[in-house]
Amino acid sequence: MSEKKQFQAESRRMLDLMIHSVYTHKEIFLRELISNASDAIDKRYYHALQAGDTGLSRDSFEISLTADKEKRLLTVADNGCGMNAEELESNLGTIARSGTLEFRETLESAASPEAAASQAVDVIGQFGVGFYAAFMVADEITVTSRRPVDEQGWRWHSDGVEGFRIDPCEKTEPGTEICLRIKENSEQEQYDEFLESYHLTELIKKYSDYIRYPIRMDVEESRPKALPGDAAEDAEPEWETVRERKTLNSMSPLWRRNRSEVKQEEYEAFYRDSFYDYEKPLRVIHASAEGAATYQALLFLPAKAPYDYYSKEFEKGLKLYASGVMIMERCNDLLPDCFSFARGVVDSQDLSLNISREMLQQDRQLKLIAKHLEKKIKAELKALLEEDRESYHAFYKAFGLNMKFALYKSFGAQKELLAELLEFAATTREQPITFAEYIAAMPEGQEHIYYACGESAGQIKRLPQCERLTDQGREILCLTDDIDEFLIKTLHEIDGKEFRSISDADLGLESEEEKQSLEKEREAAKSLLEAMKEALEGKVNEVALTARLKSHPVCLTATGGVTLEMERVLQMQPGMEDAPKAQRVLEINVSHPIYEKLGEIKDDAEALKNYASLLYNQALLIEGFPVEDPVEFSNAICGLMV
Ligand code: ADP
Ligand code: MG
Repeated sequence: MSEKKQFQAESRRMLDLMIHSVYTHKEIFLRELISNASDAIDKRYYHALQAGDTGLSRDSFEISLTADKEKRLLTVADNGCGMNAEELESNLGTIARSGTLEFRETLESAASPEAAASQAVDVIGQFGVGFYAAFMVADEITVTSRRPVDEQGWRWHSDGVEGFRIDPCEKTEPGTEICLRIKENSEQEQYDEFLESYHLTELIKKYSDYIRYPIRMDVEESRPKALPGDAAEDAEPEWETVRERKTLNSMSPLWRRNRSEVKQEEYEAFYRDSFYDYEKPLRVIHASAEGAATYQALLFLPAKAPYDYYSKEFEKGLKLYASGVMIMERCNDLLPDCFSFARGVVDSQDLSLNISREMLQQDRQLKLIAKHLEKKIKAELKALLEEDRESYHAFYKAFGLNMKFALYKSFGAQKELLAELLEFAATTREQPITFAEYIAAMPEGQEHIYYACGESAGQIKRLPQCERLTDQGREILCLTDDIDEFLIKTLHEIDGKEFRSISDADLGLESEEEKQSLEKEREAAKSLLEAMKEALEGKVNEVALTARLKSHPVCLTATGGVTLEMERVLQMQPGMEDAPKAQRVLEINVSHPIYEKLGEIKDDAEALKNYASLLYNQALLIEGFPVEDPVEFSNAICGLMV
């Protein structure tokens, strides 16, 4: 007999959890095994077709269930692609699934082993844990497998965390047989149920009804015997037990069915089982078309971003079927980047099975389908925005950033598609609003869409530059993501209304009168402003007087194309140290007492230097930037206090 091999460390931990699992839906193990069997058949069928093997048809395949109550054995068999010894070892001895990453993180972040176990319970439901789930109900598992191209079959056997053995064996039919020895009943769990055909039938209906290959089982049924023709009226029929081979699943793929015949729960079950998302999808798009492109599509908009969504590992794409045969797990040409969050399947009768990845990219039909789907997703999102704003906010929180990036990267080419789906916080509202809502609420005489950048809407609302605008009844959009201002610059305008940053030094907000008196004042203060600029030693390009502020003494703005926020974001990018900098303007409130004070001390060079530096640092702080030299700043304050 072969030597015993160890499970990889992570598998061991996972197994340990399965064996001691208190998870209440242990039944999902069957769903996992059936879906593996179906995948294995897909693979074999696909390879056979690619190799031009016409001996196999869809009808050649089946998944079979056998329950032996006496021996407590439950067997799931398929005639799919099978595994050789190496594959048995690596597929069943190690974990490579992406969901496992989250699983591991959950366990590692848990405070105690008990906490880990209870958190693991959630993960089992959310992702399924694949093959190992079988250890929740079985104390011994034997997998016998043979690949169609091999003569030799292999047996993998394990009775738990201690390890597994792999030995050669006979196997007449290609495919895989997973044989579970079902645990004895315990106080908490009636494991016997997993050997009852009625219960297994229920489970298949519940979890695996849409599996596209027949799942068959010998089912025993009691039936009344037909009465002989001359039986008395009240004669009781005799009952007999018949054993019959039955197909348990309905097989017809959900997306091929008529929309009106599919229940919401069926969509949700399909989504959960296909994409391992425990949460219900936000929206379901079931579409079909004939003509220029013939296809059926079933798309889902998730409620929550998957854990790896904003990482490099994330791959967008839809499952692609050609006339019912799965040809690609994630076809990314079907989804635009901006809607990379959509999950789902597309089944097209126009595609050939042997199409290569490269050919697929060029495929006219596929492009057409992708265009259709883009429109459908857009329409669905718009409907969500209009009909269920609360859900849209949640959706936008999860995926808005992605849409913004895509829009920015398209250099604004997707403006028509995406701009109306964007949401921003606004200074005068509780909830984020769209551009259209902003424009609709603009008071008479307002020509621009005002925006401000900052850490949070709360911080932006307190900016000195906001005060007067807010008094005039103007709303300001709060841009809090790094990408926002760059995006606004690419969009340039919406409905003919240009964007204006409230930190733009050229933003004219003074009335004609104010302008004139300001002009005079500026002339008079010319030497003071020059002296302050010099005192600040190149930190600002200009010191100016302003009438845009109300109660605050100073604010920091910028001229030219680069704003302070853009400078901050650019400086953070690696290799962008030479990026253009904002041309800073320190604006002083002409009607603030501090301006008078400056007039008083203007001939005392030392004092003026101190004041200039203090005001500049204050302006930095208010804008949410760090002061450049905290020690100097605090010394200067002390200088005033003593
Ligand atoms: P996943 O299905 O997500 O890959 P599983 O733990 O369910 O994870 O299965 C691990 C791997 O074992 C599968 O990817 C597949 O390669 C292999 N496998 C499992 N069951 C079968 C089967 N019935 N036939 C062929 N290969 C299988
Ligand atoms: Mg699986």
